[in-house]
Amino acid sequence: MDKLVSLCKRRGFIFQSSEIYGGINSCWDYGPLGVELKRNVKDHWWKSMTQYRNDVEGVDASILMHPKVWETSGHVEGFTDPMVDCKKCKQRFRADDIDSSACPACGGELTEARMFNLMFKTHMGQVEDAASVVYLRPETAQGIYVNFLNVMGPARQKVPFGIAQIGKAFRNEISPGNFIFRSREFEQMEMQYFINPKEDEKWLEYWKEERMKWYVDIGVRSENLKFHQHDKKELAHYAKTAWDIEYNFPFGWKEIEGIHNRTDFDLSRHNQATGKDLSYFDDQTKERFIPYIIETSAGVDRSLLVCLIDAYHEEEVRGEKRVVLKLDPKIAPFKASILPLVNRDNMPEIAQRIAKMLRPHFAIFYDDRGAVGRRYRRQDEAGTPFGITVDSQTLEDETVTLRERDSMEQTRHKIDELVSVLNKSIWGNKS
Ligand code: ATP
Repeated sequence: MDKLVSLCKRRGFIFQSSEIYGGINSCWDYGPLGVELKRNVKDHWWKSMTQYRNDVEGVDASILMHPKVWETSGHVEGFTDPMVDCKKCKQRFRADDIDSSACPACGGELTEARMFNLMFKTHMGQVEDAASVVYLRPETAQGIYVNFLNVMGPARQKVPFGIAQIGKAFRNEISPGNFIFRSREFEQMEMQYFINPKEDEKWLEYWKEERMKWYVDIGVRSENLKFHQHDKKELAHYAKTAWDIEYNFPFGWKEIEGIHNRTDFDLSRHNQATGKDLSYFDDQTKERFIPYIIETSAGVDRSLLVCLIDAYHEEEVRGEKRVVLKLDPKIAPFKASILPLVNRDNMPEIAQRIAKMLRPHFAIFYDDRGAVGRRYRRQDEAGTPFGITVDSQTLEDETVTLRERDSMEQTRHKIDELVSVLNKSIWGNKS
């Protein structure tokens, strides 16, 4: 992990927030490469959930919602974790994270567990009193439930259908940590699928499979992924059955996504609280019901961390250590680097011409500084899958070398074939 954290800083993926002020605990900033990687992960999720399907619509709800939403959803009362303090070293822990009754840091005596609500509060308007309290949303899901009718009508959807959303969520976690694995401000990619209650098991199975495939599709090795079913003790207040997709992190198998059968809990509660009829009439089966919801809830930052950990490799090449991020080309921040071998003989001009030709198609990186071997190494660490080098042969026959990041194999291609060669290599059959 330490090596990955340092690579992330060195190459401009992820930095600690407010670093020049000494940093703020568990908040992170994404740098030039990080922001591209994050965008690609989100794009890939968004496309697989909405663009490639007829039955899922998108929304982008606001972070601040009516405070009653969080009473109705059960979060004001129940979105809590048990917290214990060490009487000796004063460290604070989530009681369900530790096995022993003594402090895991110093062996000191622990206080009794107290329940701690994880929602951040703030005030709306000029007066800071109890009536102006609003919450920073702890999950994006509620913004979907309250828009169930707003989306279904205009989108001309019928049950079963889903609503997808990507957005920030905030949790005042008791023990954040493990880099971006658990932070207090993070992003979620959530999809809520509204179904006939009789079909809940079928749809739960369907979404479990779809979501597992997605991680493999963005390049995560399947041997590092598994399902974990929640037992009664783990189940959230709204769930009938729940499965996690877990990843084999350097700090153990941990959740990266939850797939939950939330039953009609949320819509029924919002129905009762607002008096708005959220039931659905199925004109084929002539049944009226409050739809059950199968939720798929993934963390953007956790998915991105999984991609980075899974891609990180150290190799020995001709007696030298090579660090390479073997990111799937689909999500790699830059698809290709363009490198004139030397800074003369018209090579930079040709390289610039190639860059101009490729930019409308791919995120590319132009680099004409330093020895070419060094430039390749930098791009290996950035996870750039292809390197295009303009050399003396280019001057003669308009061909360039294409170096593949993982195998380091080099092949020659005509400049005007580069777009199609890269498209095929990045997107496979989907180009
Ligand atoms: P955990 O048990 O790890 O606290 P959770 O069960 O509370 O997680 P969910 O409420 O199911 O998590 O949230 C869905 C997803 O959102 C998680 O699988 C994770 O990817 C992401 N997520 C939740 N909390 C955080 C956090 N504090 N930092 C980063 N990502 C998070």
